Amino acid sequence: MGLGFTVACAHCGYQQTLREGIGMHYWCLENVIDLVPRGDREEIEKILRDHLIPPDENTSFIEFDHRLYVCPDCGGFSDPLDVRITDPDSGKELYRSSHRCHKCRSPLKETGEKKLLKLPCPACKKKGLTNQGIICWD
Ligand SMILES: [Zn+2]
Ligand SMILES: [Zn+2]
Repeated sequence: MGLGFTVACAHCGYQQTLREGIGMHYWCLENVIDLVPRGDREEIEKILRDHLIPPDENTSFIEFDHRLYVCPDCGGFSDPLDVRITDPDSGKELYRSSHRCHKCRSPLKETGEKKLLKLPCPACKKKGLTNQGIICWD
């Protein structure tokens, strides 16, 4: 079951629900690969093939979950699926997602719930975001 929260702005009525963690059907990467943008998906699939890591098994070499990100340019929030792949032979990191903003294409920065609530509203740029409550999204 994944958890999340709804962030809202007291000034302009902006509201957005952000997810964290993993859902019930997230037990292998193949089930959720559609959440990964196409170019990244091809890169991930090639790495898995090259290193003989099965995408349809629950393996410790593939880790993924939704994380909170903020855009340093437009201030927008997002909750993309973050994927990390470890080389089964060397234990080194083979891949880590890098996310871009949907609006301005800037590289996103990872953040946390507490930090995010202190940021200005993505819509009106005033401070005063609040957590409207925890949600279970899956
Ligand atoms: Zn942006
Ligand atoms: Zn606002």
